[in-house]
Amino acid sequence: MAEPFPLQPSLWHATAPAAAETPPLASDARADVCIVGAGYAGLSTALHLAEAGVSVVVLEAREPGWGASGRNGGQVIPGIKYDPSEIVAKYGTEAGAALVSFVASTADLVFGLIEKHGMEVPHRRAGWIQGAHTPAMVETVKRRADEWAMRGVGARFLDADAASRLIGTDRYLGGWLDPRGGGVQPLAYARGLARTALKAGAAIHGQSPVIGLLRDGGNWIVRTAQGATVTAPRVVIATNGYTGDLIPKLRQTVIRPNSFIVATEPLSDNIAGTILPEGQVTSDTRQLLLYFRKDHTNRLLMGGRGPFREPRDAADWSHLERVIGKMYPQAKGLRFDYRWCGRVALTRDFLPHLHEPEPGLLVDIGCMGRGVGLQTAMGRAMALYLSTGDKASLPFPVTSITPLPLHALNELYVSAIIAWYRLTDGGMKDRAA
Ligand SMILES: Cc1cc2nc3c(=O)[nH]c(=O)nc-3n(C[C@H](O)[C@H](O)[C@H](O)COP(=O)(O)OP(=O)(O)OC[C@H]3O[C@@H](n4cnc5c(N)ncnc54)[C@H](O)[C@@H]3O)c2cc1C
Repeated sequence: MAEPFPLQPSLWHATAPAAAETPPLASDARADVCIVGAGYAGLSTALHLAEAGVSVVVLEAREPGWGASGRNGGQVIPGIKYDPSEIVAKYGTEAGAALVSFVASTADLVFGLIEKHGMEVPHRRAGWIQGAHTPAMVETVKRRADEWAMRGVGARFLDADAASRLIGTDRYLGGWLDPRGGGVQPLAYARGLARTALKAGAAIHGQSPVIGLLRDGGNWIVRTAQGATVTAPRVVIATNGYTGDLIPKLRQTVIRPNSFIVATEPLSDNIAGTILPEGQVTSDTRQLLLYFRKDHTNRLLMGGRGPFREPRDAADWSHLERVIGKMYPQAKGLRFDYRWCGRVALTRDFLPHLHEPEPGLLVDIGCMGRGVGLQTAMGRAMALYLSTGDKASLPFPVTSITPLPLHALNELYVSAIIAWYRLTDGGMKDRAA
């Protein structure tokens, strides 16, 4: 597979506060827990372990936040793909209710951590809107808003006029507003988590790709490309969409398409006042969803699926630039300052997966479009499990590593699906259609 697209061309890299020092692992070390991968999952696990007094070393191939955590849309969206009633139907009354309260809490956790630790993270909690693009989806989002409202969330359905006023376009037939959501500068948040974990006592080493994992009695020997090792009884693998071949067959459990984002030059006050005027972040109900927002300097961001392969040139983002022109004619002609992408890891059931293939080896994989909140919360839950041994702390069942059948063909299939949906629902349809 081609080298993954770098972090550096992103808006977030250009505007994040400086990263804390995380020098490569230079000599052999020992810890209670060694974590591979410094995205939200690995960093949140490290922070919560360090706070519990557990010694922890994080090894990251590049730098904290280099993966999806430093390049996502920065939309903090509570919940998962499934509505509360679907979760209860799937997991049963008790386990389902526990999972619903876990997924309901994820956005609170992110904004809570930023506040509690005074992280230098531009953020705004004005809510998340999901725009409905067909009459059937209007009914779906109405039910969704009702379900959360019944659980005490101040969620509300938006009719076409309300959606048009809040989103600033008449391209949606309705929507719902979830006040728990909001926006963050995602790389600043990853760097904030790293800085806070360091302060709590965790060790974090960048430029330390892990290339070997060996069991030695009750310990794991985790070896970096430079040859230094960490010896620890417990290891967490948090490499998600950037998973390689460290754990046999793990990469084949997910499909890893890129998600693409463009950002305009900062909008003038006049134009900014017409697009998402109340500062919500937004995505929609398309199969290949569009997600968009303004950042803290009023740049307009538009994200969505692009080609499955790594991008070749600016033309690979042009479909998103065209969407902006159709959705917001007033933004036509604006300069695009940043174009970037990152890998998500899709599981067959669209849920994150937890595996424990051998004692002391815990894997968290499956990077959905809710990972800002979800992976932060997964990290806290994994830390609790590792420090107490209580499996009930884990929000999802621990399952065996099951590669997708015909994985390579699945990737081809997904590329074809992406191309198909881009022809059908990927473009902006007129309201009347
Ligand atoms: C373009 C894009 C837009 C998105 N938009 C949103 C959004 O708006 N809202 C939302 O909630 N979610 C969004 N997501 C999803 C979200 O970003 C992810 O779910 C989340 O960041 C995953 O975090 P993670 O820690 O599990 O993985 P990552 O952040 O991907 O971290 C994995 C880390 O592992 C490291 N690594 C890999 N192999 C090794 C190795 N052998 N040794 C050491 N280190 C290794 C990588 O370098 C990487 O830093 C988006 C994702 C993308 C790509």
